[in-house]
Amino acid sequence: MTKVLIAGGGVAGTATALALHQAGIASVVYEAHTSGGDDAGAFLTVMANGMAALELIGAGQSVIDASYPAAAVELFSAEGQHLQHRAIEGVARTLGRATLYRVLQELAVARGIPVVHGKRLVSAAADGGGVEVRFADGERAQGDVLVGADGIHSLTRRFIDPQAPAPRYTGQHVVYGYADGNPAGSAPDAYHMVFGKQAFFGFTAPGDGRTWWFARITGASRPGRTSADQWRREALEAVREDATPAAAIIEATGGDVVGGDSYDIPTTPKWYSDRIVLVGDAAHAASPAAAQGASMALEDAVALAAALREQPEPAAAFAAYSERRRAQTEETVAASARMGAGEA
Ligand SMILES: Cc1cc2nc3c(=O)[nH]c(=O)nc-3n(C[C@H](O)[C@H](O)[C@H](O)COP(=O)(O)OP(=O)(O)OC[C@H]3O[C@@H](n4cnc5c(N)ncnc54)[C@H](O)[C@@H]3O)c2cc1C
Repeated sequence: MTKVLIAGGGVAGTATALALHQAGIASVVYEAHTSGGDDAGAFLTVMANGMAALELIGAGQSVIDASYPAAAVELFSAEGQHLQHRAIEGVARTLGRATLYRVLQELAVARGIPVVHGKRLVSAAADGGGVEVRFADGERAQGDVLVGADGIHSLTRRFIDPQAPAPRYTGQHVVYGYADGNPAGSAPDAYHMVFGKQAFFGFTAPGDGRTWWFARITGASRPGRTSADQWRREALEAVREDATPAAAIIEATGGDVVGGDSYDIPTTPKWYSDRIVLVGDAAHAASPAAAQGASMALEDAVALAAALREQPEPAAAFAAYSERRRAQTEETVAASARMGAGEA
């Protein structure tokens, strides 16, 4: 294996490049966005399994340095009653999605891995000897294999199987925001989560002077453009009746709000063809409830690089990789869907 092309410079793509680098395999990351992912305004938690994968690719400390500890979840009812304390197992960290992209991309560049922005993959043609891809700007690139790390709405998935199931709307919108201060006085390493009457509301005040919050609201899909202010008002409306700090937190939030429909992919029948393979959300997207999407993407990266190191024939390596990852990821996607239904 002399050269791997990677479509997508998010969590899965950049982590795959770092893992391949450790395995002595060269790759190039092609990211559609012109910047490092500043638009990815949501935050996420990398769980212990994801942190273990980061350690394996030499990225653990960099992510720790750019993130906050997540040690416990405190569950509350809509009436404000404390229902349960749940410790989060092992080392888990909270950080912005854009921060995670940036940290991984900076590590890749520091290790000499090319990360090329503004390159949107539009086609791929594979033959027995390799793969040629074309980008929206008309440029082309050749490699031995293509890794599709292009996220939940993956185009690469359709190159492998034009009949691949489309992402499924989970029935929830997710709104993320950042409030000034810590109106609820919560501990820095705890998530407070409320089973509200109309929304599942979570927040943490990790120590940067703000409260990071999300609201998962059940409702019909709304794929069109919704402004930050509309999302904020909708979230506020959904938590108004609850006797919790949720409304005060949303009221202390300015324009720093993003929202959107939440999707998952219960199964992707074909993860690979002879020269093309999927990683991360492109293969198996989970709804946000289990907080496992990024962690699974990181585990995929490690597993794919190990398979390509051990097995030089691409299709055999891809088969070993998907054999290793498929059942576990599909189980997590299903578990997350059940959790989301429980919230609703
Ligand atoms: C709102 C929200 C909250 C979440 N919360 C959590 C959480 O708490 N914990 C957790 O583990 N996970 C969480 N996730 C899931 C997590 O963000 C994803 O599972 C993870 O980012 C998947 O990584 P990925 O690299 O597969 O996809 P992405 O991170 O989406 O990256 C895909 C990349 O591919 C690029 N791309 C797309 N098409 C092309 C193309 N044609 N050519 C080139 N580049 C392309 C995109 O620009 C993007 O940078 C959340 C997701 C969302 C949306």
